[in-house]
Amino acid sequence: MSNLKIAYDPIYAHPLPEGHRFPMLKYELIPAQLLHEGLIEESNLFSPGVPDEEEILWTHDKSYWEHLRDLTLPPREQRRTGFPLSAKLIEREIRIAKGTIDGCNYAKQFGIAFNVAGGTHHAGTNWGEGFCLLNDQAIAANYLLNNNLASSILIIDLDVHQGNGTAQIFENNPKVFTFSMHGANNFPFRKERSDLDIPLPDGVEDDKYMQLLKKTLPSLIGQQQPDFIFYLSGVDVLATDKLGKMALSNAACKERDRFVFEQCIRNKIPVQVSMGGGYSPNIKDIVDAHCNTYRVANELYF
Ligand SMILES: [Zn+2]
Repeated sequence: MSNLKIAYDPIYAHPLPEGHRFPMLKYELIPAQLLHEGLIEESNLFSPGVPDEEEILWTHDKSYWEHLRDLTLPPREQRRTGFPLSAKLIEREIRIAKGTIDGCNYAKQFGIAFNVAGGTHHAGTNWGEGFCLLNDQAIAANYLLNNNLASSILIIDLDVHQGNGTAQIFENNPKVFTFSMHGANNFPFRKERSDLDIPLPDGVEDDKYMQLLKKTLPSLIGQQQPDFIFYLSGVDVLATDKLGKMALSNAACKERDRFVFEQCIRNKIPVQVSMGGGYSPNIKDIVDAHCNTYRVANELYF
């Protein structure tokens, strides 16, 4: 068995009412596929517990968190999240956050660790939005900083949507550098300012995308010298994605992941990976592209 550690719990896939439009199925299909092809064994998966409230409050406003916890978020704010609030949904969210926190410790030990869910980058200090209630990688970044486990953090957000929540949370924190490469004309329509934003026009194809990434990431790492990296590996950049507006092939999406990991390895920087979005109509496209991220990591690290 390799030391590829992956946060997963059945609750990741099941808290929404029947017929809800948010696609939950991928959360059980990704580990199922990885098990099926023998890339991982059950023992690679770990079921996260829940974080301490204090760990949530290092990132989110007390009153926002209490409204979530007590299911008292005003209807308007609730609608903005895209989810019907329930105790089970909140449990799912906090366990995802804890999965990312635990993943940081595994990443420090083994170089890399995953969360099958997470990448909830639209959640800001005091708001939830776009299927994101709590910002898992922001919570984990503050966990690292407050426990002196990292001193300079880089968040690489390559989901097709801007990491607006992450950008807002760290806007005044010089210890966390936020980098988001995303569709200029995509949600969220009112963007926040990341430390580095690369907004892309609709229809971006493989070559242009990879050129930009290759031009940007190595120098960014050289300049920031992070001692921990978070990677948000959304696969809504695929041409098949119904929300993404980009035109990346499955192969380019895999090459993207490989390039990010190669930079982490070359610079000896641990990386925690959260999955983010993926909305191709054929679930196979989503699952295959997400599984590629694990396949590449397994090949490079273990
Ligand atoms: Zn997305």
